[in-house]
Parts: sequence; structure tokens; C-alpha cells
Amino acid sequence: MDLNTPVEKLGGIYKKYAGRLEKLGIKKLEDFLYHIPFRYEDYSLISKIDKVQPEETVTIQGEIVEIKNEYTRRWRNIQKAKIQDDTGHIDSIWFNQPFIPRIIKKGDHVSLSGKVKESLGKKILESPEYEVLNGKTLHTGRLVPIYNETRGISSKWIRKQVDKIIKENRQDLEEYLPKEILRKNSLIGLRTAIKNVHFPNSLSEVREARERLSFDELFFLQLIGIVKREDWKKKSPVSVFQIYKFKDRIENFLEKLPFELTNSQKKAVEEILKDLQSKKPMNRLLEGDVGSGKTVVATIAMYIACLNGFQSVFMAPTEILSLQHFKTLNDLLVPFGIKVAMITSSLKKNLDNFDVLVGTHAVLSGRINFKKLGFIVIDEQQRFGVRQRSQLRNKGNSPHLLTMTATPIPRTVALTLYGDLDVTFLSEMPHGRKIVKTWHVPEEKRQNAYSWIEKELKSNKTQAFIICPFIEESETMTTVKAATKEFERLKKHVFPNLKLELLHGKLKSKEKDKILDGFKKRKVDILVATPVVEVGIDIPNATVMLIETSGRFGLSQLHQLRGRVGRSDKQSYCLLFTDSKNEKTLKRLKSMESIHVGAILAELDLKLRGPGEIYGTSQHGMPMLKIASFSDFSLIEKTKRQAENIFRDLKNYPELSKKIKSENLSNISPD
Ligand code: ADP
Ligand code: MG
Repeated sequence: MDLNTPVEKLGGIYKKYAGRLEKLGIKKLEDFLYHIPFRYEDYSLISKIDKVQPEETVTIQGEIVEIKNEYTRRWRNIQKAKIQDDTGHIDSIWFNQPFIPRIIKKGDHVSLSGKVKESLGKKILESPEYEVLNGKTLHTGRLVPIYNETRGISSKWIRKQVDKIIKENRQDLEEYLPKEILRKNSLIGLRTAIKNVHFPNSLSEVREARERLSFDELFFLQLIGIVKREDWKKKSPVSVFQIYKFKDRIENFLEKLPFELTNSQKKAVEEILKDLQSKKPMNRLLEGDVGSGKTVVATIAMYIACLNGFQSVFMAPTEILSLQHFKTLNDLLVPFGIKVAMITSSLKKNLDNFDVLVGTHAVLSGRINFKKLGFIVIDEQQRFGVRQRSQLRNKGNSPHLLTMTATPIPRTVALTLYGDLDVTFLSEMPHGRKIVKTWHVPEEKRQNAYSWIEKELKSNKTQAFIICPFIEESETMTTVKAATKEFERLKKHVFPNLKLELLHGKLKSKEKDKILDGFKKRKVDILVATPVVEVGIDIPNATVMLIETSGRFGLSQLHQLRGRVGRSDKQSYCLLFTDSKNEKTLKRLKSMESIHVGAILAELDLKLRGPGEIYGTSQHGMPMLKIASFSDFSLIEKTKRQAENIFRDLKNYPELSKKIKSENLSNISPD
């Protein structure tokens, strides 16, 4: 039984709890050690019984002189005990834990930690933590680690396992970081770090332990990124694309675009062309703020793939977005004799013969026969799982890969997360774009805002989005029902003179298509939508974005939503509705009024809400950090430098190489 043993294989209670443990991210023995406490209860004050004070959190140690269950009315029960040391005695009480008298018995020497209460002039310990004294204490009398728990799995239980695993597997916790790195960065040894992060003697020990483990986490994330990137470069050569040969046709294509490319877009195209002409498959991330014009950059590359006789596939996360891309690509590519097809799970058209295939993850379905896939685009890549990305990649013979994201991940974080990718940033907006004027609107001003919107739409002949209240992360029937209700209310009572339509993910794709088409053709004034349909939609004539329950969104999400307007040279507006009075929330919303750069908002979000909230469950492809933080930019930089340095002579560090190979670490790497 070593640290790599999967939990199910351990038998007994572990096997029984395997499912629940997995929820906590614990799949093998070692994962217990990396299940890091999120705080510590300070029970380190050990007091004599005659010294305890009311409201004090203390530990007392003594002998049980009496312990019993007492049943009260309505099937409730309490547990009472009397404990004595050489200075006196004190009573302790627990509620509804009838098993306690089986664990601690009369005559036992125990340690109890908790809060002292005063009841009828008598001091009493209420629901203290307890353990029979037997060597070092685990649950009392010290800084006690508190963990993320799940049903049936308490911090106390986890603590016991961690203690046991540390004791039994000391030898497995072999130091893998080279001495120079430890010394240079003043890091403590691995064993000490693991032990102290769980069972510290002081908060400064916690700090040192966290420093060491955070270093490891970011260091390996980046080192593995570098290793992968180098591996990717060694891949069998993909067909080299010809560019020069098609120079005239490419130039003609660029000239016929409905607009001139921004300098940023030109630079991105150049970088991509360079990749396509090299013998290595491209693996590039195009990161650009909402509305920066990523689609056209990808389209140019797809055109070049076609000229070279290769098929391309363009994968987008939602049906609505796929539909929109399908139309854009049709407009741009069909005049040049390129066949564009589309597939989503509910819509399959002319799939036998295409140059460019657009679609949702349905593009992965086995039925599609790629004849010569040479180029892959993944739009809004953060929405896809790691598996889907690599599945697509395996469809061709080392095809070029361009992933795009509008989630404004701060640059440093992007470079850490995607250490194995080359990254291009589109830092500029198309010419003539105006800043979207943004206001946070308190509940009292709701009616005024509605009237203002109606006037605005009428006088400027523009359109609006209204984003329904945020209910759940995913589009469930509850969300759809609530949206429908809100839609009816708006239609009947608020904007009876305007034409409204409702868009949500549960509609059939034909209906979605019709609604979006109507909106694009200006037959609809206001598109009411659920929060999850937002991503990527492009309607340049829409100038007003109203967001309900805006306080429940992250700044990056709000920025994404806001990015649906301001896509032409008309002045656009974003109204953030909230009934929240929470100061923090209001402050966050205020920052939307003055900050208009996605990356800055993302950084702020990281600081205000923490990475867990932002890169949490809904964002696939983002590894969750267990201990380090993506907002710790200086540690990110430091570990990046270290990783780059050490990579060059990795062969001199066998323990380190072994560690990189070990399954655990490939788990946390993003791709
Ligand atoms: P995103 O980067 O968010 O995916 P899109 O690719 O959807 O942005 O582009 C946003 C809008 O800007 C589209 O309507 C697109 O046609 C337009 N656009 C893109 N590039 C330019 C440009 N250089 N000049 C003017 N408009 C542009
Ligand atoms: Mg887009």
C-alpha cells in the first residue's frame, strides 16, 4: 500500500466512501495529504479547570468521573460528563451524540477543547471536541485543521486518516526538489511541509508549509507545461502550409473583408502564418477581449488551410454560437468557393462534402468522415473539457490547433495555465469602438431605467438585450421557467409597445435560429435571454444591455455580457440591476462603471472573490489549484523562471523527472 493506491483498493471504509471522497478530490491515498485545511481551530490554550473563564476557547485535560446519556422530551438526547483534574472539576455537555459514552468512558484520561459557557452561575463546556489522551493530541489541545467536508466525511475523520497516512508512509514522501531550489527560495523540506500544513505547532509553521506547497504546485504546473510544449514540437511533421504560393489570393481575401484589420489582428495573423509554415503543428491560444475580433483571424487561417487542400473544423460551445459562426463563415468564405457545413446535436446539414465544418461538440461524433483535416479552431475554449479538446486533435494527423478565449484571464495566469501553448493577445479593439457606458441601477430606479430604454431604442433605432435573473449555473427548467415568467412580465407590463422575444438554451435549434435571425434583421426590439446563452453573440445594432441580479455574476462574466453591445460605432450602454445592499457587491458593480478592460476586471475579480469562485466548477479546462493562488503573481513569475531554468538540465535531477512523470502531477496540468 503506497501513496498511489486508489481509495477503492484500500477496502473497508475507504471503499465504501470512495464516491464521497472523490467529491473532495480524493482518489488515492496521496490525495489525503494534499487535501489542504482551509483554516485551523485554535485549541492550543491548555488550561487548568479552576482557571477557565466564560466565553474562552480552551482545552482541558483530566479524568472522566462520570458520563451518561440522558433522554429528554421528543426523542432528543444529551450527553453529560464530569471531568476532573488536580485543580477541580467541570461539566461538559453534548447534544444528540449518544455514541460518545461508548468512546469515552469513566476513568479515561481525556482532552476536551471548546468554548466555556456559563449557565446558572456554573461554568460548563458546551459540545467540546474530545479525544482520549494517548500520546500526541490530534483533535484537541493544538491548532486543529478544518477541511472541506462532505456528507458523512467530517474534518475529524479526515484528520485521523491524514495523521495515519503521514505516519505510515513517511518514506514515500521523498524530496524531489533539488537542494539549490530549496535553498534559493528558502523553502522547507517536503515532509515537514506536509506534516505542518496539517498539524502545525504555530501559524508561522503553517505559513512556511503553505509557501513550500504553493511553490510546488505552480512550479510543476509550469514545468509540465514546458515539457508538453517541447513534446508537441517533436511531433511528426504535419504538412507544411504554403503561404507564398497563394499570396495574391490571400491578399485579395483580406481586401474583400468588410473592414480593415486592426494592428493587433494583423499581428495575430502574422504569428499564425508563421506557425502554419513551420514543420511543427501549431498549438496557439488566441486571447482577446470580447469584441476584439477573434473570429475573423481564425477565418483567415481556415481560408489558408482550404487553399492548401485541407479541411478545417470550427468548434463552438453552444448551438446559438455555432449558428452565428456558420452564418459569418458563409458570408466570408462562400464567395471564395469554399463549402461550409454545420453540425450540432439537433441539426445536421450537408455533411458529406465540406471544406469547413462548424458546430458544437457534435463535430466530435464518429459519423463525420474527415478526409483531410488540417486545421482546428476551438472557440471559447474554456467552455470545453480537456478530453474534448484532445479528442478533436486526434481526428487529423497532427493538425494545427488554434484555441480562442474571451474569458479575460490575466496574462500571467494565461501563461501559467497554458504553459504548453503559444499565446497571442489581441490587445486592441476594432477602430471606432466606443466605451460602453455602464451604470449600476438600484431597485428604486428600475422604472426610470425601463422608460429610458424605450426612449433610447426608439430614437436611435437600436436594440437591447435583457439578461434574466441568474438562478443556477446551468440551464435547468427552473431557470427557463423563471425566464419565461420575466419575459411575459416585460412584454405585458413594461414594454407593451415593443417587440420582444425570449431566447434560452432549451429551445429547439430551429427556433433559436429564427429568433436570432429576427433579432439580427431588426424585427425584434428586445431579446430577453437567460444568462447562459450569452457567450459570443454578435449583433452590432444592439446598444443596450440590461443585466438582472448582476451582483451574482463575476466581473468577467459581466464583462462578457457587456461585450454583446458596443460592437459598432454607436454609443452603447450597460445597465446593471441589483437589489443587493451588500457593500462589497455594490463596490464590485461600481468598478464595472470605470473599468472597461477585461483583463483588469479579471485581475480584480481574482482579488475580490478568489480564484475558486471564478475558475470554479463551471469553467472546464481550468485546473483547480489546491493551495497556491492565481492571484499570487510574484510566485507565478518566480516559479516560471525556476521551471525554465531547471528544464534545460532536467536529466540531472532524476527525482524531479520521476515526479513529473507521476500520474498525480499530470492530473493538475491543463491539457
Ligand atoms: P470576439 O473576439 O468577441 O469573438 P468577434 O469576432 O465576434 O469578436 O467580432 C466582433 C465584431 O467586430 C464582429 O461584428 C466583427 O465582424 C467585427 N470586427 C472584427 N474585426 C473588425 C475590424 N478590424 N474592424 C471592424 N469590425 C471588426
Ligand atoms: Mg467570439
